[in-house]
Amino acid sequence: MPFSALGLLSTLAQAAQAKGYATPTQVQTDMLPAVLQGRDVLAQAPTGSGKTAAFALPLLQRLAQAPHVQPRPVHALVLVPTRELAVQVAAVLRDFAVALPRRVEVALAFGGVSINPQMMALRGGADVVVATPGRLLDLVEHNALRLDQVQTLVLDEADRLLDLGFADELARVLALLPAARQNLLLSATFPGKVQALAQALLREPVRIRV
Ligand code: AMP
Repeated sequence: MPFSALGLLSTLAQAAQAKGYATPTQVQTDMLPAVLQGRDVLAQAPTGSGKTAAFALPLLQRLAQAPHVQPRPVHALVLVPTRELAVQVAAVLRDFAVALPRRVEVALAFGGVSINPQMMALRGGADVVVATPGRLLDLVEHNALRLDQVQTLVLDEADRLLDLGFADELARVLALLPAARQNLLLSATFPGKVQALAQALLREPVRIRV
């Protein structure tokens, strides 16, 4: 099945083809329509399954279709466990964002480096922020961004987020988000603590296993 059959804008489907994605992977086939419909998703998706594009493509499509406001409120938040993953996910989002009919700004926030450039980068606003939890909270405390307009939350590699001890930060971030929102939880493994998180976070999720 081609990408365009999954409800993807033709410009995004073409961008995927241009990147060498001839056909969608299983997780992409299952996840794209659900995300486009605004559903919550629980996906068992290991690295290498194509999980990044599975959430990035429909997320960008929804952002591009939202009314344009200045300064750009953060409409989507992607939480990841590590700086490396943050950089990779933001690169995929930016790569596909150029194919959109309107400009979508992707900001990056991770710890272990100076906060100032990240604060500067957020000045014009961002449609989507890809962040590790601790630095995200620092930026909120510095009034560099607000999370009260977030419409979609993505937890990528949720098992690693919890393994790396981000449970407290995660709880603090969740408390800053609007209650009515879409939630996507992706994880390679499902130990009890990830199941408990999914139970607390997701509303009637579409369940995907690859
Ligand atoms: P991920 O699981 O998101 O880490 O992606 C694993 C790798 O698969 C990345 O190098 C992607 O560029 C690639 N990839 C993602 N989707 C597809 C697709 N539909 N066809 C071919 N390669 C893909």
